Amino acid sequence: MILKGFDELKRFLEKPRNIVVVGHRNPDGDAMGSTLALKHYLAKKGHNCTVVVPNEYPEFLNWLPGSENTYRFDWQNSQSKRVIDNSDLIFLLDFNALHRVGHDMQKILEAYPNDFAMIDHHQQPDDMKYMYSDVEICSTCQMVYQFIEMNNDLDFIDVDIATCLYTGIMTDTGSFRFRSTTSRTHRVIADLIDKGAENDRIHNNVYDANSYNRLLLLGQALSNLQILPSYKTAYITLTNEEKNRFDFQKGDTEGVVNYALSLKGIIFAAIFIEDKEQGIIKISFRSKGDFSVNKFSRNHFNGGGHDNAAGGKSEESMQETITNFTSLLSEYQSDLETAYED
Ligand code: 5GP
Ligand code: MN
Repeated sequence: MILKGFDELKRFLEKPRNIVVVGHRNPDGDAMGSTLALKHYLAKKGHNCTVVVPNEYPEFLNWLPGSENTYRFDWQNSQSKRVIDNSDLIFLLDFNALHRVGHDMQKILEAYPNDFAMIDHHQQPDDMKYMYSDVEICSTCQMVYQFIEMNNDLDFIDVDIATCLYTGIMTDTGSFRFRSTTSRTHRVIADLIDKGAENDRIHNNVYDANSYNRLLLLGQALSNLQILPSYKTAYITLTNEEKNRFDFQKGDTEGVVNYALSLKGIIFAAIFIEDKEQGIIKISFRSKGDFSVNKFSRNHFNGGGHDNAAGGKSEESMQETITNFTSLLSEYQSDLETAYED
């Protein structure tokens, strides 16, 4: 755990400030939940606070309290730059390195003259003036809860803050089942329910908002599933043509990789998704037990994340990427065999 400059940050926040809160590109439930929760909290403390998201977030998060008042850096560029220019401090939430906001926004952040405060649970964070980093914690939302707690402000958590925090903890823990979920996580969740988070409504909004096309895309993904039993590995591919056929929308492939991991005996799963716009194959890796997909992705696919959930990318074709991926596996055979006892 790294806690750096916390007392100084506390003093800095004693006066009303202009603050921008930023999450990572392609925001997920934890990025949206943590940025919005922190914004609501800081606003209650008297600050003037704006959330800037790098690009579009999935529709199943657009009901989150405050999401309607965020700026999107990609298409509200001048408004976003203006609030950044006018801010005294930027919070960086749910990411560990400036490049995670995307190229254009990264350039703006690199030129930022004031300080950054990072709250994040990803491995190997870049150094910032103020930092709260803990790779053991399941979600940035739980960290925001603990940040509020460190400020002795748990009474500030209202129904909006509780709803945002519950959402990010729920999505980053796969509904409270990943290894990162602890008794502390459940205690935080219990408190958030006491403070007004409606667990059934939140689950419904996030997980039961499928379109027909999304289910058909899932069907396509599952029929593309490949299993490599000797490596306890399974992977899924989705081409651009397949995405278009089922009217792909942001967020439609969220969680699909977990189906590969749900196979009995499989402890390493990947999904390869062609992204024509960016000219890359976007990859999600998931694992069980001691096989670190953070290391695997860092070493071979220009990415990172956590031990059991990481992302990466490839600039080669789908076919080349898959060939590369499968040929790497023999190097890891003994790690894969011993990573998880079921
Ligand atoms: P996902 O597979 O859901 O996109 O991401 C899994 C985890 O890895 C998330 O915590 C995400 O923030 C992180 N992650 C995803 N893509 C990248 C990447 O390209 N680089 C790094 N460092 N982390 C990533
Ligand atoms: Mn997260």
